[in-house]
Amino acid sequence: MEMIKITLPDGSVREYPKGVSIYDITKDISEGLARVALGAVVNGKTRGMQEEVKEDSDFRVVKFEDKEGKEIFWHTSAHIMALAVQNLFPGVKFAIGPAIDNGFYYDFDTEHRFSPEDLEKIEKEMKKIAKENHVLERFVMPRNEALDYFKERGEVYKVDLIENFPEDEEISFYKLGDFTDLCAGPHLYDTKKVKAIKLLSIAGAYWRGDENNKMLQRIYGTTYEKKKDLEEYLNRLEEAKKRDHRKLGRELDLFTLQEEGPGFPFFHPKGMIIRNILENFWREEHVKRGYDEIKTPIILNESLWHQSGHWDHYKENMYFTKIDGEDYAIKPMNCPGSILIYKSKMYSYRDLPLRWGELGLVHRHELSGALHGLMRVRSFTQDDAHLYILPSQIKKELMDIIDLADYMYSIFGFKYHIELSTRPEDSMGTEEQWEIATNGLREALEEKGIEYIINEGDGAFYGPKIDFQLEDAIGRTWQCGTIQLDFQMPERFDITYVDKDNEKKRPVMIHRTIFGSMERFMGILIEHYAGKFPVWLAPVQVSILPISDKFNDYAHELKDKLKDKGIRVELDGRAEKIGYKIREAQLQRIPYMLIVGEKEVADNLVSVRKRDHGDLGQIKIEEFISTIMEEIENKAK
Ligand SMILES: [Zn+2]
Ligand SMILES: [Zn+2]
Repeated sequence: MEMIKITLPDGSVREYPKGVSIYDITKDISEGLARVALGAVVNGKTRGMQEEVKEDSDFRVVKFEDKEGKEIFWHTSAHIMALAVQNLFPGVKFAIGPAIDNGFYYDFDTEHRFSPEDLEKIEKEMKKIAKENHVLERFVMPRNEALDYFKERGEVYKVDLIENFPEDEEISFYKLGDFTDLCAGPHLYDTKKVKAIKLLSIAGAYWRGDENNKMLQRIYGTTYEKKKDLEEYLNRLEEAKKRDHRKLGRELDLFTLQEEGPGFPFFHPKGMIIRNILENFWREEHVKRGYDEIKTPIILNESLWHQSGHWDHYKENMYFTKIDGEDYAIKPMNCPGSILIYKSKMYSYRDLPLRWGELGLVHRHELSGALHGLMRVRSFTQDDAHLYILPSQIKKELMDIIDLADYMYSIFGFKYHIELSTRPEDSMGTEEQWEIATNGLREALEEKGIEYIINEGDGAFYGPKIDFQLEDAIGRTWQCGTIQLDFQMPERFDITYVDKDNEKKRPVMIHRTIFGSMERFMGILIEHYAGKFPVWLAPVQVSILPISDKFNDYAHELKDKLKDKGIRVELDGRAEKIGYKIREAQLQRIPYMLIVGEKEVADNLVSVRKRDHGDLGQIKIEEFISTIMEEIENKAK
């Protein structure tokens, strides 16, 4: 019998007969593991429990906690939903049913219009199916047989999918009860783990996303192993709706997106206050850590992008223009500009490391359907930096960047975890360079004692990277900072330094961001704080509310006093009832309200109301000023 070697994450190696199933390997490792396992990552590919392994492989079991585990779980749930729909609505045609970020969907073609009541019925049927505990059976058919199979059943979308497969391809199928689907997997072994089910919404979706095709009905849903986890997710969803940065952005007058610039955000005065504070904070921290700042042009000659490799790997996402009959490109990244500055001078080993930060405005084309407030835009400012370093400085510099990111995130109260992404298929450079770079990142993380998750094949085309995944106030994660190690660009642009031995050598380049994109980071902050910015970030820090216009003079004096200290203050001198003014200031999420009436004027006091804390009583003006100044200075949370 031919044997294959299976290497586990701890480096241990086990031998099995060729064609062994993932389920059997998992069970052999431990019965307990087989009970909680949902599938495995085999040589970087996520595979279901019933799939076979036919070659020597790296093997990592995945559970629901792992993102690959969720993908298997949710994709299998899409099959369960499809079977439920087939049972309840015979004659429906099936399109595709993938796992997505927080669940799954399936696209259906039917004359019947699905209603919210239908969702309840389908949900009930899904629960029944899951309980019946069907095993997902995999089988294969040659392409022609597969075509006949689906043509007979009138499944035009499956036929369309198969027709786009290569002639000699073997097509895999999965059978779940009476529902057979064309599918490459991966799937759960059976349906019994799918215990908590919720269908969320119905939307229209064109076949293959093309508006010339027929509009199908898409049903979104999510599932969990435990009821409690589903409930937590649904609560978070509800909370997220309230915090939507597009809604708050409008209500708090921070930014807009307009038809004249799809994906190009407009920042209003109050939004710019927050943005400038963030940028100043960024600058201060970088200066402290030995960074210099540069600024490079937005439009640069197209030839530069050929040299950088962006043309071959990234041109679909770039915008182009012509100047004096020559071809130019709008920069999608800041690196080539930074490199041109490096090349304008000769450096010695004594000059390195160079750390050049750039708040660089880049443009990247996104499909209009993918645009989303400040989270997914077509123009954004990266808080970029490029470091030019000696190979011997790799670990130290990486560790310093991790420290910087850690400090900056802590100011906003973000927890985070780190993911390490390795070489993608479409990439430049030798195996050896990738290994040195990947090990450099790994060593820095290990020396700092930071745990991390590995994303196989998810690196940039010029090097591996680590990403910081921030967790916000309601438990959602956002990828923000990234650190990339790069041996390619220095070679492509032939940049050098003069070493001790007078030889010209290549510096190593590090690309990195902390916020990621200023625009997106602001969107995240708006949702993280639910619009209630801490005092140091709040566009208006204090609102002065006179009880009647008799006290407006005192209120104006007070305003000037605060303004002199650099406090951002507003005065609501309108002839409105005080209750109304307080409500309005609360809606604007202003951290402090100072209420001014007879007694306050007589004794030189202010009545302080703090957002979320209510009435704090009367205090001396000077005392209030020193309290708020301290809060601002300390960037209190
Ligand atoms: Zn499937
Ligand atoms: Zn870069």
